[in-house]
Amino acid sequence: MSGVGNRKYLRCLIAACLISLAGAAVASEPNHASGMDDATAPGDDFYVYANGGWLRSTAIPLDHAEVGSMQAAVDDMDEKLRNLVNAASSAPPGSNAQKLHTYFRAFSDMPTRDRLGLSPVQSLLGEIAKAPDRSTLSSLMGHEQVDFTGSLFDIYIDVDHDDGHQYAAFLSQAGLLLPDRSYYLEPNFVSEREALRVYLVTLFEGIGTNDPRRVADDVMAFETRVASASWSDDMQVASNERHARATDLPALAPGIDWAAFFKAAGVGEGSRVVIGEPGAAKALSALFAKAPLPVLREWMTAHAMDRSAPFLDSRRIAAWQRFHGQALTGRSTPLPIWQLAIRAATGSQCVGAGGPSADCFGSLRWAAGDIYLAAYFPDGTRQQVQAMIDQLRAAFRHRIEHNDWMAPSTREQAIRKLDAYTVKLGGPSHAADLRAVTINQHDLSASARSVAASDWSQQLARLGERVDPKRWVEAPQSVDANNGTALDVEFPAGLLQPPVFDPARDAAYNFGAMGAFIGHEWTHGFDDEGRHIDADNRKRDWWTAKDNVQFLKRAKQLASQYDAFEPLPGEHVHGEQTLGEDIADLGGLSVALDAYHAFLHGQSAPVVDGLSGDQRVFLGWAWLWRGKKTREALQAQLANDVHAPFEVRVNGVVRNIDAWYEAFGVHVGQRLYLSPGQRVRIW
Ligand SMILES: [Zn+2]
Repeated sequence: MSGVGNRKYLRCLIAACLISLAGAAVASEPNHASGMDDATAPGDDFYVYANGGWLRSTAIPLDHAEVGSMQAAVDDMDEKLRNLVNAASSAPPGSNAQKLHTYFRAFSDMPTRDRLGLSPVQSLLGEIAKAPDRSTLSSLMGHEQVDFTGSLFDIYIDVDHDDGHQYAAFLSQAGLLLPDRSYYLEPNFVSEREALRVYLVTLFEGIGTNDPRRVADDVMAFETRVASASWSDDMQVASNERHARATDLPALAPGIDWAAFFKAAGVGEGSRVVIGEPGAAKALSALFAKAPLPVLREWMTAHAMDRSAPFLDSRRIAAWQRFHGQALTGRSTPLPIWQLAIRAATGSQCVGAGGPSADCFGSLRWAAGDIYLAAYFPDGTRQQVQAMIDQLRAAFRHRIEHNDWMAPSTREQAIRKLDAYTVKLGGPSHAADLRAVTINQHDLSASARSVAASDWSQQLARLGERVDPKRWVEAPQSVDANNGTALDVEFPAGLLQPPVFDPARDAAYNFGAMGAFIGHEWTHGFDDEGRHIDADNRKRDWWTAKDNVQFLKRAKQLASQYDAFEPLPGEHVHGEQTLGEDIADLGGLSVALDAYHAFLHGQSAPVVDGLSGDQRVFLGWAWLWRGKKTREALQAQLANDVHAPFEVRVNGVVRNIDAWYEAFGVHVGQRLYLSPGQRVRIW
């Protein structure tokens, strides 16, 4: 996402200059402070007060869809990984580091890729074109985790909350080339739909299809039906899941040859299966049964071409970038090949457990993580962050103990749940297992398939195992944190760097950024979704009827506050869609503030940069989310991201915290002002 031209400026502004403060032993934040806007009252727009100068003076680089604090950390990570991967050129043959280096070189080797052209996917395209029936296509869908096929259902392995200690195969609705169902159904995505049509025509022309325009129209029409049959985001909640066995699927969602699908996926007949969107599963399967076979083959071909494009020749990679990297994000120019290669090799943008998405498929992210940990995660950082995590957990515990709307018995169970959490820091303690992986420097696609097959067989092996909360989901280089499904929270090494955490910074800023991040993850276990899981990791309603009423009242109030934010003209935040993250942000910053106060041990906070301790905690949060996005990226976020846009994550949270009013003298009549009775406190 980053270009050479603007890189230096960005790094200096956000990351490098903060690091340089370490040497000077000064706790102030001149770079952030100079980006403030003193002309805006904090009570009118806290986000602009904290960031207005920066917002005015910063343009989004042409090859970016976003610029800001977190984006700088992501760009910086790609640079660090590039250096590490290059340095692995002398690693011993057969070692993980050597495989990683070879994969990176294979991805970067465009002359070889151009020479191979379509040949790496020729046999797959042939299989699809000749598929005689729906059973064969069902079987191809079941291969989605290990090959470039498309599927109406993503399949992955995760924790079964009916049991809490066993894994199950999860099915979730898929089958769309655009990011979300709303892109097919809503009027504000006309240009994205047109971009898809152009992309499809290019893909079909590239494989010599007769009448590529007509075929592209067929695929668009089919995907529009898929979109209509799919569930919207607010229906996709754990409480709507259906727990079953693989053998139950033909009765629950007739139309797909499920036996063929599961056999291809390697999931045994007796396996536990969780259907994420049961109503959609039924409708999608019926659609699959009804659609003409030639249309299903065209649709499958489109997905095979789309998924394999990043691994094929220059022409296809360019088309893929124009659609995914530019039309859908608003980036003006494509990413340089080295950065695509780093992201493909190291999975630096892969979110979650991996799988078919372009950011995850075939990446050696655990091997890259081992190298990153060794280079960038010293014991000193581990100890400092561990101390902070302990302080945050204690602060959250204290807030639960003193919660005024929960029954004592529920509070007790909430604390039991908090205590049951496994906390992971940095990354896995064992090296990545790449024994089954073959990397061929002259055959990138085969290499990617080999990695994917190894990943998937390791996932499948879990089906018979007891849930291990120590197992990592996010790789160490992720610039993010995760509240997992195994009663676990993880803080990868990639998160524990500026702008989130900086050992040289004044503690108040670190509490406002890193502390709120940690608190955020804790409170996810108690948000609108997490609260349905008990201390034994089972889905169970452990709340009294009165607790439920109290929680829902507060959650609804918060959601309607967020509904009122309008980041783009006429396009509002969807408070229900972002609710879990909003509850976590509010809880996280509240917990962080408490933890900062406890950290002071009754001493008054020092004044730094002319700011009080509490002011710096709030500014730490507002500076963390300093950033801006293209219209397309913002639109995509509003449509399908569970996180609210930057300014909403700041303004939506602070106005509900009493201490913010005191810290900045916010009063009636200012735009963000809420009367004490309107302020929402959940955790
Ligand atoms: Zn979150």
